[in-house]
Amino acid sequence: MSGSNPIHVVGGGLAGSEAAWQIAEAGLPVVLHEMRPLRGTEAHQTDGLAELVCSNSFRSDDPQLNAVGLLHQEMRRLGSLIMRCADANQVPAGGALAVDREGFSQAVTAALEAHPTVTIAREEIDGLPPAAWDSVIVATGPLTAPGLAEGIRGLTGAESLAFFDAIAPIVHRDSIDMGKAWFQSRYDKAGPGGTGADYINCPLDREQYAAFITALVEGDKTSFKEWEASTPYFDGCLPIEVMAERGPETLRHGPMKPFGLTNPHNPTVKAYAIVQLRQDNALGTLYNMVGFQTKLRHAEQVRIFRTIPGLENAEFARLGGLHRNTYLDSPRLLDATLRLKAEPRLRFAGQITGCEGYVESAAIGLMAGRFAAVEREGRSLEPLPVTTALGALIGHITGGHVSAEEEGTPRSFQPMNVNFGLFPPLDRAPKAPDGKRLRGTEKAQAKKRALTDRARAALGEWLGEEPAPLPAAAE
Ligand SMILES: Cc1cc2nc3c(=O)[nH]c(=O)nc-3n(C[C@H](O)[C@H](O)[C@H](O)COP(=O)(O)OP(=O)(O)OC[C@H]3O[C@@H](n4cnc5c(N)ncnc54)[C@H](O)[C@@H]3O)c2cc1C
Repeated sequence: MSGSNPIHVVGGGLAGSEAAWQIAEAGLPVVLHEMRPLRGTEAHQTDGLAELVCSNSFRSDDPQLNAVGLLHQEMRRLGSLIMRCADANQVPAGGALAVDREGFSQAVTAALEAHPTVTIAREEIDGLPPAAWDSVIVATGPLTAPGLAEGIRGLTGAESLAFFDAIAPIVHRDSIDMGKAWFQSRYDKAGPGGTGADYINCPLDREQYAAFITALVEGDKTSFKEWEASTPYFDGCLPIEVMAERGPETLRHGPMKPFGLTNPHNPTVKAYAIVQLRQDNALGTLYNMVGFQTKLRHAEQVRIFRTIPGLENAEFARLGGLHRNTYLDSPRLLDATLRLKAEPRLRFAGQITGCEGYVESAAIGLMAGRFAAVEREGRSLEPLPVTTALGALIGHITGGHVSAEEEGTPRSFQPMNVNFGLFPPLDRAPKAPDGKRLRGTEKAQAKKRALTDRARAALGEWLGEEPAPLPAAAE
């Protein structure tokens, strides 16, 4: 391979932006091809790189007890542009890392535009990338444009799976009745940049909740197209009306759970269910309805959500919606460095590889960029320990998943958030300092701490760092 040929990255989303940054930081030329604004997708609304299409949350930032918090920490240690811009644009969100979506996207775009070895080409790659491109990262996401998707399908022979992700509505803050709603984080937890009172809470009593569930179940929904009818939902992103159909109590144990919250307007009466809204922009003028992804028709959303106490006069900046998702059967198709076995000049990154989530997509972009860079330099990269969050995630995508499908059934490889289930088990169960066996929550937390401590040490070793204990909090 010629050292002067640029590496091409197709798609300037979470994964593609991070991949391009990693290549550029290795001192290599890279061309980032992004089709917006020339061609849009069903979910993107701007021409910014790394646009967040739904929630503004990167989820938990706890690197000791949470797998995605650990992934944040690992990405920061590897110089992630996405994490740097997220940290610089965070908004209060309890224990989560949430960002001002516009400020975040603008920061990523500006950093890439300013980098001397990055060229940004605003164009659609319609079909397979030209044969002359000897190293390509395809990071076109769940809404890959049809021409390229067809090209990939033709090459792999494998059908992509499709299923729904659903967008949650966003409400104007000043249209919420704070005489009924109140600010509080669950159990008053103050996370990074938070105060312990970051969420707006709307309480429902038993009757209001029952009427709300009935309205959801009976509400007018977007009908399925024929090809969509047999598509499985991703369980982490179920529309609320689908949860309501599973049983009247389901939402009370999911996004509408009332625990850890006390209504200051009526402190002696516990709400039967609570709708939470989280800040969506730096100004604090917009709030999203947490976990309220929906396929209800827009007029129905307005009618039904205005029955929630505090939202009677809610003005919606964005209503919920449904979108398609495209991803590869990666465990079969990709090698350990994310290259397509059938055509190794093509490497894949982001949600199209079958990971799920902003952070995971960016994480796979980070590693794809590093793999492509060392390959261009004629080197290889020591495999990441599978005990790290990054290693566990890549391991799952490129072979960790055990395929269980039978002929004629949908294949079993499904998009997956990073979670402790992807990590190899501990050699032995952690014990209390006095040597006694731990039980319940104590045991679960000790196990998570041991897994994340092990991951930190393994990544340090992989990076060639001195084996010194790292601070648990984000560096
Ligand atoms: C509707 C929806 C809601 C979601 N909500 C969440 C959420 O709330 N939280 C979460 O963690 N995850 C969410 N996800 C999942 C996932 O994390 C995001 O889709 C994430 O943006 C994926 O990152 P990516 O880089 O793989 O793809 P994207 O961020 O989508 O980036 C792909 C880029 O490629 C461009 N592109 C596509 N085809 C071409 C082409 N042929 N030529 C040039 N450019 C092209 C697109 O314009 C886009 O900019 C959601 C997904 C969808 C579809």
